[in-house]
Amino acid sequence: MTTIAQNLGAVRARIAAACAAAGRDAREVRLLAVSKTFGPEAVREAHAVGQTAFGENYVQEAVAKIEALRGLPLEWHCLGPVQGNKTRLVAEHFDWVHSVDRLRIAERLSAQRPEGLAPLQVCLQVNIDAGANKSGVAPQDALALARAVAQLPHLALRGLMCIPEPAPDFDAACAVHGRARALFEQLRAAGLPLDTLSLGMTADLEAAIHAGSTLVRVGTAIFGQRTAPAAG
Ligand SMILES: *Cc1c(COP(=O)(O)O)cnc(C)c1O
Repeated sequence: MTTIAQNLGAVRARIAAACAAAGRDAREVRLLAVSKTFGPEAVREAHAVGQTAFGENYVQEAVAKIEALRGLPLEWHCLGPVQGNKTRLVAEHFDWVHSVDRLRIAERLSAQRPEGLAPLQVCLQVNIDAGANKSGVAPQDALALARAVAQLPHLALRGLMCIPEPAPDFDAACAVHGRARALFEQLRAAGLPLDTLSLGMTADLEAAIHAGSTLVRVGTAIFGQRTAPAAG
């Protein structure tokens, strides 16, 4: 077994244990393997043991990897900030985007989604802990943005994504993730058919699952430490 296969097994066990501790069915939580800065071979190794959904941050790096792995039935999720000049590449290559935080970007993604592809699956990134200089729509503006994005023809609005600052302990992490969960429920109560709460990474996936995450985004615990940030 490769290291990546072993790591994936350990992460799946962490997810199962967290679900059991929270009284949740493990099938409610998807695992997204965040492969940014790692090459196509690492993705192949993960796919060989059943992983199909992969997350990337840097659009150019991701597009090269997606092209190199065309033959495999993989699902690609864009997690990084989407600038206006990158929307076309994102619309043409990805299945999901978790980092939409402005209507203008959503409109471009919808307009540039190629005919013949399924709608681009979208999560709104919310700046849940009001971190300075952080991407994400402010929580109080999320409902209006969600209503507008839900109208766009070539997008399917699925949920919310948050990247809170590291918390000092489990309870603090649960508290901030709980705010994301509350906002998610508020939008659902307002009639938006959301089913995805993208919360939790290597360090805090247990707290995220406790708070109600339906998708955890895990890089380091699967692929190892990232060295140089990739360009692009
Ligand atoms: C890099 C990244 C991850 C994975 O983080 P790890 O701590 O390596 O698990 C998850 N989500 C986003 C948005 C990221 O940028």
